[in-house]
Amino acid sequence: MIDFELSPKMRATQKMLRIFAENAMRPVARQYDEQEHEKPLELIKMVHGFMKGGIGGPAPAGDKKEEGDKKKKKSEVNFATAVTVEEIFWGDAGVALAFPGEGLGGAAIHATGTPEQKERFLSRFKGDEPVWGAMAITEPEAGSDSANIKTTAVRDGDEWILNGEKIFVTSGKSALEDSKGLVVVWATVDPKAGRAGIKPFVVEHGTPGMQITKVEDKLGIRCSDTVSISFMDCRIPADNILGSPEITDLSKKTTSGFKGVMKTFDATRPMVSAMAIGVGRAALDFLKETLAKEGLEVRYEISPNRMTSIERDIAELEANLKAARLLTWRAVWMLDNGERNSLEASMAKAKAGLVVTQVTQKCVELLGPLGYSRKLLLEKWMRDAKINDIFEGTGQIQMLITARNVLGFGRDKLK
Ligand SMILES: Cc1cc2nc3c(=O)[nH]c(=O)nc-3n(C[C@H](O)[C@H](O)[C@H](O)COP(=O)(O)OP(=O)(O)OC[C@H]3O[C@@H](n4cnc5c(N)ncnc54)[C@H](O)[C@@H]3O)c2cc1C
Repeated sequence: MIDFELSPKMRATQKMLRIFAENAMRPVARQYDEQEHEKPLELIKMVHGFMKGGIGGPAPAGDKKEEGDKKKKKSEVNFATAVTVEEIFWGDAGVALAFPGEGLGGAAIHATGTPEQKERFLSRFKGDEPVWGAMAITEPEAGSDSANIKTTAVRDGDEWILNGEKIFVTSGKSALEDSKGLVVVWATVDPKAGRAGIKPFVVEHGTPGMQITKVEDKLGIRCSDTVSISFMDCRIPADNILGSPEITDLSKKTTSGFKGVMKTFDATRPMVSAMAIGVGRAALDFLKETLAKEGLEVRYEISPNRMTSIERDIAELEANLKAARLLTWRAVWMLDNGERNSLEASMAKAKAGLVVTQVTQKCVELLGPLGYSRKLLLEKWMRDAKINDIFEGTGQIQMLITARNVLGFGRDKLK
């Protein structure tokens, strides 16, 4: 049964996070937007105190059917993370993305690592010190078409040697500067093998041959660092390849490789949707509060054809945001229940990425000069919104995946 009621415990956590977001994040949001990439150290200490492991570490449910009793494995970890993410991003998206935690790197380890690797690489995030994880798949010639990556991994005795360039790595600077930080790097072990040859590798802080080559100057989420990283004869231990080094998984008679990428995205895309909903809700709440001060409140009880145009606009924005939340919660519920959710994760992200840009832009429009002023945060939320329609696969790519799944078309038929 699907139950989207929040438990009393989750409601209490949500309330606590809302207080934190409102009183600790909001007051510094403008400052850290202007001082791009500067870390909110006090907040980091605070947030690490009550959320060890960070907020950005969705845990793919794994092959629960293979592991045995499905009922026993049922969890709410991803549902709880989505609720948490929405509240924190309601506070501030840039600051939230700068918080420490497993991040996308952790998601890739959960999705593809062996139990020993999960323990070895993820336990560091639960210690007393904040630690950053990152994931690097995008390259100058491979973004949406991530199966086209050119970074190579060549086996040499007890080591792998990585060569290539990665761009737009969220928290890459934080992870590389942190003595316990790590980056999961996707590379091909055999360019001739195509998708099957693409594998994830853990590269730890201080590994020679790994270097930041560019720090991005961005439109939004400016507190979060985004960097390019080059790998030049970067040697890592042989057992830092996540999962099996085999190109073909004989036990399942399938090619593995790129499936790990998709499994990671199935877990992270709903979290990006939750981020988007948090930002959209921030803008909408602010719009409603501001209009209420002028005596304008939405009369939900009357028929839409008797509403003013602003009332109808607000009702429509709210409906869209709620629709995005329901799609998101369905995608994480499936994840928690060990069900394949690729279609639902893409649907949620397509909807939330679009809705958050529409909501924030409309809120700016409806408040006119007030919305455009840098004295308030609304213009910032409009800037912070757009990234949700870009990273973890653009809106167009989510629509493409959705269409392929619904129509039953392969990659060759619908490009
Ligand atoms: C701030 C930021 C943080 C990021 N963080 C990370 C990170 O941590 N790790 C990481 O690996 N990557 C990260 N990325 C990269 C991000 O995932 C890519 O930018 C994104 O996937 C798009 O790839 P691209 O930039 O190469 O655009 P392209 O693939 O070149 O796309 C350009 C445009 O064409 C459209 N398009 C492409 N193919 C199709 C198609 N078949 N049908 C219809 N339209 C299409 C796209 O939707 C887009 O509008 C980040 C990016 C940004 C901006």
